Amino acid sequence: MKRADVERIETEIFIAGGGIAGLAAAEILLEAGKDFILVDEYPYIGGQYLRDNPDYRPLDTPTRKYGFHLRDHLSKADNIWTETLVAGYYGNGEIAVVKKEKPYIIKADKILIATGAREKFLPFPGWTLPGVISAGAVQALVKTSGYLPARDAIIAGTGPFLLAVAYEFEKAGGKVIEVAELNPIKKLMGFTTALLDFEKGREGIKYLVKLFGKLSYGWKIVEAKQNGEKLRVTLEKNGKKRELETELLAIGHGFVPNIEFAQLCGCPVSYKPELGGWIIEVDENMSCGKDMYAAGEVTGIGGARKALIEGQLAALSITGKEDKKLKKKRAHEVKFAAKLNTVYSVSPHLWKSIPDNTIICRCEDVTMGEIRKAVEEGFVSTRGIKGATRVGMGNCQGRTCFPIVMEFLRSYKGVKPEAVSIRPPIKPVDLGVFVDLE
Ligand SMILES: Cc1cc2nc3c(=O)[nH]c(=O)nc-3n(C[C@H](O)[C@H](O)[C@H](O)COP(=O)(O)OP(=O)(O)OC[C@H]3O[C@@H](n4cnc5c(N)ncnc54)[C@H](O)[C@@H]3O)c2cc1C
Repeated sequence: MKRADVERIETEIFIAGGGIAGLAAAEILLEAGKDFILVDEYPYIGGQYLRDNPDYRPLDTPTRKYGFHLRDHLSKADNIWTETLVAGYYGNGEIAVVKKEKPYIIKADKILIATGAREKFLPFPGWTLPGVISAGAVQALVKTSGYLPARDAIIAGTGPFLLAVAYEFEKAGGKVIEVAELNPIKKLMGFTTALLDFEKGREGIKYLVKLFGKLSYGWKIVEAKQNGEKLRVTLEKNGKKRELETELLAIGHGFVPNIEFAQLCGCPVSYKPELGGWIIEVDENMSCGKDMYAAGEVTGIGGARKALIEGQLAALSITGKEDKKLKKKRAHEVKFAAKLNTVYSVSPHLWKSIPDNTIICRCEDVTMGEIRKAVEEGFVSTRGIKGATRVGMGNCQGRTCFPIVMEFLRSYKGVKPEAVSIRPPIKPVDLGVFVDLE
């Protein structure tokens, strides 16, 4: 067994992530004639927002239109590497990447981190059953392939994202039984001003019109049970329960920034629940350290327009330029995002009261009861709970369960959760990538 050959490449700028933030930056750098490499682990660029296949582009807002222009324009460039995982950081500008099973070390003078976000869930008994999937997964299936994972669906959780998923599910020919928003309408009413924003308002109104009569507010999922081919879902509001049958239950309770690569790079992180939890701290030039920049969801959950602006600001700052108007727009987007995330947050008593028989760590089958017991025994940090219960030790390395544990700790014990320490590789990589097993 010997070490696999690692190819070394040098570039001026390395961009981690080809979502709208990374692409917006790449476009400016390309125009400025800069030498850069952008990598993304997916087989195509575009990230979460620009997933759609060319025949399925449901809403043409200005951000989406420009985003698709970026995707179409840049997907031909040979310095854009898809199916390439950012696996680690060695320091001194050296990044470990794995492209189609082959390891590289890319040495860059500057690094831009645009690794986006993932989904967050409020678990309930039955959320691991077949037929219960994430709202993002439904959207990905429908948008990339037009494939409907079921004929009908309940879409539940919290956030305007659920409306987008329901809209796309119906548009692709599925039947939405109900969109069950967890937060009560009274809490959301304070945010109707969002509809005054031309782009977001237009999008929101389109969803509301299509889903008219299917929206319910203030209902939480109590449990899901298998009932033959279908799922029986119990919802509860103010002590009143009702049951619904569905082929598919799609759930989502917000997003969490993917800060792992930034942590390895030594960028400062801070805990801002109103922006999605642990985020990368940036200044107004999107800088997060010497020759380090971050843009998009990693600096706080704020959607595609914020990500686009931040990608542009980061690239301008890398090229030594400044756009004061754009900085102002960004400040507006961040403020808007904080309000939106607060209105659509899951209230602490719901995190606190997850039933003991609910699985929290799906990889290691750790239940809420085991975690609660560990906390009662004095393990009041994510790391402590991990050691006591094996939560987060499975294949996903806590990407799904740690945000849940953090919310639980915050609401149950009033503890500000500590950031999870990260070791490379950021995501699982085959051993055969690093060693020649012949
Ligand atoms: C499942 C999901 C669905 C969403 N759908 C919508 C929607 O319909 N409308 C909307 O307005 N917003 C949506 N959002 C919010 C969305 O995050 C933003 O609107 C927008 O996509 C943010 O752009 P970004 O460039 O910051 O991140 P992203 O679009 O998430 O792009 C980040 C990119 O980084 C790549 N990446 C991450 N880690 C690594 C790594 N280690 N190595 C290599 N590549 C990596 C990812 O593959 C991804 O392509 C969604 C978010 C999620 C999580």
